[in-house]
Amino acid sequence: MTTAVESGRTADVIVIGAGAVGAATAYFAARAGLRVTVLDSGPLAGGTSSACEGNILVSDKEAGPELDLSLYSQKIWREDLAEFADLFEFESKGGLVVAASERSAQSLHDLTERQRASGIQVTNVPANSLTDYEPHISKKLTAGAFYPEDAQVQPMLVVAHLLRLARELGAFVHTRTPVTGFIRKGAAAIGVQTPQGDFHAPSIVNAAGTWAGNIADLAGIHVPVLPRRGFVLVTEPLPVTIHHKVYAAEYVDNVLSSDAGLQTSPVVEGTDSGTVLIGSSRERVGFDRTVSLPVLAALAAKAIDLFPVLEDIKAIRHYHGFRPYCPDHLPVIGPDPRVPGLWHAAGHEGAGIGLSAGTGKLIAQSIIGISTDLPLGSFAPERFEQVLT
Ligand SMILES: Cc1cc2nc3c(=O)[nH]c(=O)nc-3n(C[C@H](O)[C@H](O)[C@H](O)COP(=O)(O)OP(=O)(O)OC[C@H]3O[C@@H](n4cnc5c(N)ncnc54)[C@H](O)[C@@H]3O)c2cc1C
Repeated sequence: MTTAVESGRTADVIVIGAGAVGAATAYFAARAGLRVTVLDSGPLAGGTSSACEGNILVSDKEAGPELDLSLYSQKIWREDLAEFADLFEFESKGGLVVAASERSAQSLHDLTERQRASGIQVTNVPANSLTDYEPHISKKLTAGAFYPEDAQVQPMLVVAHLLRLARELGAFVHTRTPVTGFIRKGAAAIGVQTPQGDFHAPSIVNAAGTWAGNIADLAGIHVPVLPRRGFVLVTEPLPVTIHHKVYAAEYVDNVLSSDAGLQTSPVVEGTDSGTVLIGSSRERVGFDRTVSLPVLAALAAKAIDLFPVLEDIKAIRHYHGFRPYCPDHLPVIGPDPRVPGLWHAAGHEGAGIGLSAGTGKLIAQSIIGISTDLPLGSFAPERFEQVLT
């Protein structure tokens, strides 16, 4: 017979969600000495963290709070988590952003100037040097920029290993355990209800990704996290053909756009297994899982424009996921003053893998009550309420 503490029913911290963000939060909280219990309605990494690519990018960020978080998270991946890098296939491969017109070359140049001023390492690459980076790239491009800090991980391995490491530090992980309600003491949240019984902790972290808004609803508050669908095409395995993460300059505009309609821009990268991953599409269609052949065709055509060598290569499969999107494109990270005891770590949109490491460490710092390495004000969960009133 196990006691309540042994099965994790009484903990210091409950983390709702076993995706990349929940796993990083659990790991850093356990490393800080807290007793952690992770609850997920499905399996490990059953949400968007298994339906994405694993890029850790600084290249697609404009100056501002998300770039600050991105640079901080880079540091956490490269320092705090460095000893585990091989476990989750961390590869500092670098990113190459390319422009296909003179106008786009000028915008890319202007972006690199702003980014450099914000501390990003970037080298401008003239059109005739692009093949030094990618021998098979289209000869029709007008300019490029190389970002040596862009890196990649295997997201499902990140989740599995960070949760294993957290368990070695005493954490409990309960899969197939959906949170269905909160236990309250006055305004405060002091536990959660599940079909498998109640769990108690003075600190509860909503790391439910695209479903974080539903968890907020259960707590009686509004946190607007919406799904933004994206497809990825996977090719048959090839000998090493594409060396970096390569994408079109327009991708940055698509990331920052709030348009609900379909946007596609080519994002191409090789993997260790030889397959090439081809993205990216963005559209707000709720949780519609219908496969869209026009979107897949557009992705393939744009990838071939970038790498004509892909024309004769077969796509063997595709998948899609739902990015957790907040209307101002910033995640919600930090304590919620409307429900003492509740923290949020969600809404990282298309960057939740890259930003997970930094987010997890910041949440752990916030819970133990020390000064956070980055100010969390821009990510305040209640900011949308303030806009409404
Ligand atoms: C096509 C595509 C490509 C992408 N590429 C990249 C990329 O290259 N780099 C990058 O950084 N990001 C990328 N992203 C974004 C990234 O995948 C997400 O930001 C990230 O996975 C979010 O992680 P998370 O842990 O917040 O959410 P999730 O991984 O979705 O985890 C949330 C968990 O909460 C659980 N949950 C939900 N409700 C409950 C409940 N009631 N009770 C208990 N558990 C619950 C779910 O089961 C789920 O496991 C991409 C996304 C897509 C769709």
